[in-house]
Amino acid sequence: MMPAKFILRFDDIAPEMAWSKFSSFEALAIELDIPLLVGVVPHCLDSKLAREPAKDDFWDVVRGWVDRGWTVAQHGYTHQYVTKNPGILAIGNKSELAGLSYEEQYVKLKTGKDILVQQGVWQPVFMASAHSFDYITLQALADLEFRYLTDGYGVYPYKIGGLTAVPQLFASSAHLDFGVYTICLHINDMTQSQIQKILWFVRTHRKQFISFADAVTISSSSPGIAMASRFITAAALRIIRDFRSQVGQ
Ligand SMILES: [Zn+2]
Repeated sequence: MMPAKFILRFDDIAPEMAWSKFSSFEALAIELDIPLLVGVVPHCLDSKLAREPAKDDFWDVVRGWVDRGWTVAQHGYTHQYVTKNPGILAIGNKSELAGLSYEEQYVKLKTGKDILVQQGVWQPVFMASAHSFDYITLQALADLEFRYLTDGYGVYPYKIGGLTAVPQLFASSAHLDFGVYTICLHINDMTQSQIQKILWFVRTHRKQFISFADAVTISSSSPGIAMASRFITAAALRIIRDFRSQVGQ
């Protein structure tokens, strides 16, 4: 079997993010030529994502990433949570989209897409805020010509509601010896030691890092493994999360 592959995913990319923390990842990605997966909030109105002074040339920066071959995923629309719906993955209890009507979701997604298109950075990839989306979200995404999703259980890409999804299990480099793993990082809340740990892991595993575009083409060589891995990881993660909520973490 092919050794495990990794994608480096950054959520919450917005003008007022913690650029001082992100800069070391950006520099490493450029040095090692690793195309990152960046979740860009089209019109950020979430004050929790405002950590440092706004970058005035924000869209120029994002266009520069696109020129380098990075994948831009639309990360919601305004990143404001309006429902308590956990969505299909049942990870949290808040959503920008899940639980809303088709019309409401479509308008939000389209307005966000229009901004990214106007800035010349839209790609047919979606990243839900708080990992929360429902089947109506998937329908609206398909109708807006999105083709890929970064989220879900398992260790191989899978089909869901007309889209192809690349799973996202951990916020760390935890992995088995096969499959594709999306390391999901929220730079705003990372400590220096967490940052150093991931930077070191990337440097020492350079050959295993691939772009999102390459990841969508990976499939399991043995039938059944992809599906089994989805059930097993979903169940395992649910147990871990239940345990954490019980002990109050
Ligand atoms: Zn987010």
